[in-house]
Amino acid sequence: MKADDRYERMLQAVALARNFLKQQVELGFDEIYAQPPGKRSNVKKPSTSVKTLTDFYEKMKDCRKCHLFKTRTNLVFGVGNQNAEVMFVGEAPGREEDLQGEPFVGRAGQLLDKILAAIKFTRDEVYIANILKCRPPENRDPLPDEVQMCEPHLLEQIRIIQPKIICALGRIAGQALLKTKAPLGQLRGKTHDYHGTKFFVTYHPAALLRYPQYKRPTWEDVKLLRREYDKLTG
Ligand code: URA
Repeated sequence: MKADDRYERMLQAVALARNFLKQQVELGFDEIYAQPPGKRSNVKKPSTSVKTLTDFYEKMKDCRKCHLFKTRTNLVFGVGNQNAEVMFVGEAPGREEDLQGEPFVGRAGQLLDKILAAIKFTRDEVYIANILKCRPPENRDPLPDEVQMCEPHLLEQIRIIQPKIICALGRIAGQALLKTKAPLGQLRGKTHDYHGTKFFVTYHPAALLRYPQYKRPTWEDVKLLRREYDKLTG
């Protein structure tokens, strides 16, 4: 390689590094996580009638198990990689998500993408879903009977994907899935078990937009998640 090309490449690398650091600062992070991504697992999936997310979506897309079907624009199934090792689960679609039929596409979603990038994941590499597949009117909290009706859909997605790690985004998702009333402060920063899968809870990205002081503990949580991922797949 010519000296000029080498110099050009070096400038590009410096520009990339500068952008990454700028993004970290915007997120409120002041440490760098620099572990290489681990290897993918080759764990076999159980064989049942519904083997793919597409098949499952076709089966459930007209769901009317609870009354939320009456007010939804779109059912928001989930997005990402069917072979994802890591799955993120939010609460329920908001206005933008209901309109577009995809989870976490609003401002909170953009922040989620930055958080993923900070621990070296992309949206296409992980799987992102919600406990409720349909938007509750006015973005109110999910009701217990809605969670009860919709959680089996999430469990079926988990059965198909077989992630190694699941991370609940926010208190509502954490409490609903772990069947607890414990505050987020007690749920985050440690591992739990959700139907046999390693489970974390951290702050909801929308909470970080309102309360920047939660960015720091969120960074700790996602670093912990990434370490577990590296351990499980490395
Ligand atoms: N908040 C959530 O919990 N899920 C979404 O999909 C969007 C916002």
